Amino acid sequence: MSYLALARKYRPQAFEEVIGQKHIVQTLSNAILQNRIAHAYMFIGPRGVGKTSIARIFAKSLNCAEGPTVTPCGKCNSCTGISEGSSLDIIEIDAASNRKVEEVREILDNVQYLPSQSRYKVYIIDEVHMLSTHAFNALLKILEEPPSHVIFIFATTEPAKIPETIVSRCQRFVFKRMSREEIKAQLKYIIAEEKKKVEPEALDMIADAADGSMRDGQSILDQVIAYSGDSVEAAHVEILTGALEESLSRKALPLLSGSDFHGILSLLEECEERGADFQVILSKLSRLVRDMLLFRENGKAEILFHKNDLDYYEGMASSFSPEKLVLINDLLADAAQKLRFLSEKRIFMEFLFYKIIHSETLYASSSEARNTASPPPRAAAETSSPAPRKNTSSWKESVLELAGEDHSLYPILETARMAVNGKGVLFLGWEDPYFHKQALLRENQIIGLIRKIDAEIPVRMILIEKKKDSRKEKESRQKAEKRDKDIPEEVLEFKNTFNGEIIEQRRKDDV
Ligand SMILES: [Zn+2]
Repeated sequence: MSYLALARKYRPQAFEEVIGQKHIVQTLSNAILQNRIAHAYMFIGPRGVGKTSIARIFAKSLNCAEGPTVTPCGKCNSCTGISEGSSLDIIEIDAASNRKVEEVREILDNVQYLPSQSRYKVYIIDEVHMLSTHAFNALLKILEEPPSHVIFIFATTEPAKIPETIVSRCQRFVFKRMSREEIKAQLKYIIAEEKKKVEPEALDMIADAADGSMRDGQSILDQVIAYSGDSVEAAHVEILTGALEESLSRKALPLLSGSDFHGILSLLEECEERGADFQVILSKLSRLVRDMLLFRENGKAEILFHKNDLDYYEGMASSFSPEKLVLINDLLADAAQKLRFLSEKRIFMEFLFYKIIHSETLYASSSEARNTASPPPRAAAETSSPAPRKNTSSWKESVLELAGEDHSLYPILETARMAVNGKGVLFLGWEDPYFHKQALLRENQIIGLIRKIDAEIPVRMILIEKKKDSRKEKESRQKAEKRDKDIPEEVLEFKNTFNGEIIEQRRKDDV
């Protein structure tokens, strides 16, 4: 016998074989029993949760020679035809590949003809949201006055993309994601039927990776069996699914809660060495953060996707405020969009985690910088030297705008403070040595960007050290005053603007 994918081989053939979706099976069964059949149904839900399987079973129930019945015989011409996909009266259309108006119109033109051998002509249109506007218009005309022998079952993962005029003419059913336990139970059954061995841990991993989709779970099992042969081990699953990324993400969260940036750096190194996909790590982290928020707000294990993770969350929950978790989720979502276009993914991840750890101070200090870094214009300076071409806030905006496409440069500049002093020198200062170091590495690029705005302006890049100990403040101020005598006037001005100390001076252009 030729090879059949597990997802097809174990597709449910009757309502009683359907896993999960009890509410839908019940409602459709009742409709058949009470002979209240609608002309159009809309099945809404994520992929791989049984939408087309249930649509076919429903079609079978309606057209069975012994029906309509909730227990189709499975033997009559209609039943076997549907199982084999050869029934002339069940028309399955994948809108994702049949978007052309003509093709859809051709199919719909035949709607008027009576079914060839059954009670109903059933149109199952998958991914219906992909149809073109013209195709929807053609469909709407039929839905306004459907022939009595025609039933439409639309399946979609994105109902918001379907015109309201279509949706309002359908009975809507919302499919749920499968629970981890439901997926595990079915996989266990399949493994037994296929006479394979599987480590319990491996089964858990596959169920996790399936992420609520039975079809995904079965496809992963297919792959793993192809890879492992008769005995499936956890290590195999880790290689083939995102389990590696999952375990690395799980290591990241405690490091973030402990603000351990050095730990994060070595974790990122490990990710790179083990060939982990950073994109997958972002999505795994996002899921963990979501669970953490639910755990914090509710404290019940039932609402978590990973139900056996209470201990894991309990240890960290207090170090993340709900606001911080929301912020982290925003940063992750934003990063997931940008990451795919970058070649230097690891550097970007370093910045991302740095931002997450220091989100409070970073976001506070950038608004503070906006407030303090625009000193009132000094009349004396303006008359004696070239006037600054731009004020400070517009400089930062312009530079960030130019850097916008470069996702590794942007965070460096975002954390910078920028000010043009009285003599028209642009200062870029970093409070944080990490960003300062990164800025120095990218110095030519940064100056290149600035040159695009103003080819003439002299640039200084400096590290600003915040004062920490107020007891020593007086003492160091006296020392500093002494030292200040040796510092050029324009640097001193900038230093005083930020109330900081000068750690390093670099000469770029002559002023
Ligand atoms: Zn039958």
